[in-house]
Amino acid sequence: MDESTFKESLLRKRGELLAAGSGGVKPLTATMDTNTRQGDLADQASGNNEVHIQLKLKQTDAKILQAIEEALYRMEQGTYGICRDCGEPIAPARLNAIPWTRVCITCKEKQSS
Ligand SMILES: [Zn+2]
Repeated sequence: MDESTFKESLLRKRGELLAAGSGGVKPLTATMDTNTRQGDLADQASGNNEVHIQLKLKQTDAKILQAIEEALYRMEQGTYGICRDCGEPIAPARLNAIPWTRVCITCKEKQSS
């Protein structure tokens, strides 16, 4: 596997996400804001799912952006491709699919169960 290929994918994805967000809005701030108010908004939006879906999408984008920044940082540190939780190398196929992933598939499955 070639790390520079992953870096390219990460930078491209980051560019897409930044272009998609309305300019000037800081993704991380938006995420925190959404987290605190999501309950209320979801209640108000019953019958209008669109609002809720849009909020969810924004939240996901912000999370991915953060993960991309972390992945780029790990590349600089030389620890890219190492699972954050167990320290084992992440399978190249998984990195191909999600270059910004932090954990291996085993730990991911543990998390979601
Ligand atoms: Zn792991």
